[in-house]
Amino acid sequence: MPESSIFLDVQELSKSYPAGKSLGWRRPMRRVLKNISFSVKRGEILGLLGESGSGKSTLARCLLGLEEPDGGEMLFEGQKPALWRKRYRGAASVVFQDYLTSVNPGFRVSEIIAEGYLAGGGKPKNQAENVALLMQRVNLPLHLARHLPHQLSGGQLQRVCIARALASKPSFMVFDEALSALDVSIQSQILDLLRAIKENMTYFFITHDLQMAALLCDRLLLLKDGEIVSTEECSKLSAQKSPYLQELMDSTIVFSSAFADTPKA
Ligand code: ADP
Ligand code: MG
Repeated sequence: MPESSIFLDVQELSKSYPAGKSLGWRRPMRRVLKNISFSVKRGEILGLLGESGSGKSTLARCLLGLEEPDGGEMLFEGQKPALWRKRYRGAASVVFQDYLTSVNPGFRVSEIIAEGYLAGGGKPKNQAENVALLMQRVNLPLHLARHLPHQLSGGQLQRVCIARALASKPSFMVFDEALSALDVSIQSQILDLLRAIKENMTYFFITHDLQMAALLCDRLLLLKDGEIVSTEECSKLSAQKSPYLQELMDSTIVFSSAFADTPKA
């Protein structure tokens, strides 16, 4: 694979948190990420699948620079994360599960989206025009621009968060359980939206839901207790390949259309 096709390269990443009470001078630590290595191709939709507590959000926070790993290396487009973020302001964006706590409850929709636009270096004089374009891009009716978060449905508010994330013109988008709090019918609409807006962005899509991951992603990393136990091409998903995948399949209701071994509906 030529070097330029790798967007993100992660080598031996580790992270521990203090666990339990301090024992004198030494604080017991728990390893939450254990020597994680993987790479993401430019334009790829890479899924991170794992049970609750397996370390998914910790990994996301490390990738986004919200948390300092204990060890390991990360390179974005061949550059150290801090340098890359400084050079390409707004190039990494995130959408979290909890859309309600992700927004300022006193901000109007237009102000929430404008936050992302200005954070990405957008010019204030073009703010209104860009906010309107972003609302169109995520299929939000423009009359919602003056609404407050509590006046929107969950699906609408998550669209606002997606618009805010898009507003900085990112090349890398992290979705941390971004669909998990939504009703199933809304989840599938937002999945369609994520496909529609993708263009040449690289996605890191975190979920505990195998079916959702299989519907969107090109490739899946399976995380268990802070370790990547397997990597799967979504076009070749089959339960026989990995006992952990079988475990995850057994714990979800699986639509046959999500898997390669059964013909798509
Ligand atoms: P996931 O997103 O897969 O549910 P997390 O990354 O949130 O998992 O958490 C992995 C483990 O790390 C959990 O056991 C969690 O309790 C622990 N953990 C996460 N954040 C912290 C923190 N700031 N301090 C201490 N422990 C943490
Ligand atoms: Mg999480």
